[in-house]
Amino acid sequence: MHKSLMFNEEKLAVEIYKNGFSSGYFSFGEALLVAKYFRHTLGYGDARTKSAVLLFCERNDVFFRRVPNMNKIKKIVNKSAKPYVNKSEPICLYEEELNTIRSLTEYKNKKFLFSILVLSKLNQESYLANYRWNDIRTTMHSKISNKNISQLMYQYNTLGLIEPTRYESHKILFSKKEGTVIREINQKDIYNLNSVFVELFGRDTFRCVDCDAEHERKSFNQKRCKTCSEKKERENHKLRNRRYYKNISDGGRGARNI
Ligand SMILES: [Zn+2]
Repeated sequence: MHKSLMFNEEKLAVEIYKNGFSSGYFSFGEALLVAKYFRHTLGYGDARTKSAVLLFCERNDVFFRRVPNMNKIKKIVNKSAKPYVNKSEPICLYEEELNTIRSLTEYKNKKFLFSILVLSKLNQESYLANYRWNDIRTTMHSKISNKNISQLMYQYNTLGLIEPTRYESHKILFSKKEGTVIREINQKDIYNLNSVFVELFGRDTFRCVDCDAEHERKSFNQKRCKTCSEKKERENHKLRNRRYYKNISDGGRGARNI
């Protein structure tokens, strides 16, 4: 079920090696994982890793061309010397980071920035590769589209919180390595980041247009609380009935004119 969630880079690398690029097109991050597979799992040296990665890219992306991508491939071969990330110790969330998230105004902006921070920490570096966007959905139990994620990324970038890199990833600029630890995230939390988020930041609320009281948001664009929306529904119902019977007594065609 949670196949690619990220504590084990080797597992993910094997998966990509078997199934090709997840988008069907060359991705720097995924090619890097495959390079790590050649190097650390199969024990290839520099030259063999390089030619195996090139072959892999050509086989899995019909539009891939060697020459324009040579610098990227060289970079990938160099970077693949780093060992697989296999993270099992908890991730620390620091006060300063959480305060940065808290300073955002919109609830959903806070929520996704939180997920981005945690996911970037899983890689032991403050970077989040774009092919990890699916993990944002998995961890937050959200159906947010790639387009909406990239809009959010743009907003975070404008606020100076993240920065796109040349390698299809984002650097998380507000990520810290020390400070007051507010919460530790363990493996179990990863799949329930949503509830950790609620625990730290509270629930999303809105002001009901009828009773003017603060309520927990249950759906997108919610205007009324449960009590008021039921009341409104009853009134609408009465109104519909009244119109219906008035219509009939006026000799109209009843339901058709409602
Ligand atoms: Zn209300």
